[in-house]
Amino acid sequence: MYTKIMTHEAYMQAAIEVAKQTRTQGGTAIGAVLVSNKTGEIIASGGSSVGITHDPTSHAEVTCIRNASRMLSTDNLCDCTIYSTLEPCMMCLSAATWARIPKVYFGAYRKDVDASLFDIKGFVSDERQATRMNLREDAQMQVHGGILEAECAQLLQGYHDHIEAA
Ligand SMILES: [Zn+2]
Repeated sequence: MYTKIMTHEAYMQAAIEVAKQTRTQGGTAIGAVLVSNKTGEIIASGGSSVGITHDPTSHAEVTCIRNASRMLSTDNLCDCTIYSTLEPCMMCLSAATWARIPKVYFGAYRKDVDASLFDIKGFVSDERQATRMNLREDAQMQVHGGILEAECAQLLQGYHDHIEAA
């Protein structure tokens, strides 16, 4: 089978494009893509459409997972890797776990963006916490951040001013 595995940076760049597109549609500039580990192809994408759909669960990663699952008619995405421009929250990591996605790569860390984006106190996940989550005994999720960190953080600059004005 023809494979075209790209670098982490190239996939993150694709997620950045999704984030930009989402912003032009009225969403928040956060994007995610799901990649097949077998072919290297981007199977699905999703942006943070909370502001458009008024669905508080439609974060970029969840939207991406929903799109992929619907398209492939499966809830098992164990052969896939997800890339997100922003450190996933606990809900998104949990969604990835339910979808059996073993690897999660993200761009900007929480610390890089406006605090109002992570205004939930307490147990928000990061790489270490994600490893500890270990929701499935058979597969420990791997989470790595910092891919094109500055570019991903840049997307969300002025986020707070934006919501204040809205
Ligand atoms: Zn989330």
